[in-house]
Amino acid sequence: MRGSVLVLSGPSGAGKSTLIKEMVKDIGPYYFSISTTTRQPREGEVHGKDYFFVDKEEFQKDIADELFLEYALVHGNYYGTSLRPVEEALSEGKLVLFDIDVQGHKSIKTRLPDITTSVFITPPSYETLKERLINRQTDSMEVIEKRLEMADEELKQIDTFDFVIVNDDLDKAIKEIKAVAQTAKLKKCPASIDAFKTLWKGL
Ligand code: ADP
Ligand code: 5GP
Repeated sequence: MRGSVLVLSGPSGAGKSTLIKEMVKDIGPYYFSISTTTRQPREGEVHGKDYFFVDKEEFQKDIADELFLEYALVHGNYYGTSLRPVEEALSEGKLVLFDIDVQGHKSIKTRLPDITTSVFITPPSYETLKERLINRQTDSMEVIEKRLEMADEELKQIDTFDFVIVNDDLDKAIKEIKAVAQTAKLKKCPASIDAFKTLWKGL
């Protein structure tokens, strides 16, 4: 059986990274898609682990070379998902995790409809989101304002997702994301189902 895809989207500061860090302890074979971005690294972020940090010229060259499964301009910076490692992980039957914005979700859903499950992560309120962004201490007030503005836009897409998790009580949200991941793994493409049917018959 080939693998499946789980897309996590939601406003910056919703808790996607926090939930991913917890869920991967418990979900079996997975691949976290490391995106490429033109944004500056935050303190503590590691090239090749959190993101591949590149300049605009390199990003545009990768676009021209068709290296991205999808890419988007988010908060004024480019972000993109590399195609090759995703293909490899899927062929190895892994659950591929994407932490991408709502535009990226739309692209992945269009390109990989049969195997994609999506979940929108949101804090309980705008005020909570603002608090979390401030407390995270990774962005200037100007950047935070931009992200809050974007949050309103992103929320408009909430009904295009399969599941919604309100990340208020963290332990509850962790349980919920693990349940969604287990469900996502059960979503299979028609080719995998055909292969299973053949095996079933012992052919
Ligand atoms: P994202 O990856 O969506 O941008 P993060 O995972 O970085 O968001 O979370 C933003 C901030 O909120 C972090 O400082 C994180 O520790 C905190 N956080 C995440 N979930 C919760 C929660 N349920 N309750 C309180 N704080 C949280
Ligand atoms: P941040 O700068 O906070 O790490 O990410 C900003 C936003 O970009 C988040 O909503 C995150 O999900 C999104 N993002 C990260 N990588 C990608 C990607 O490869 N493609 C798209 N479309 N969005 C991404």
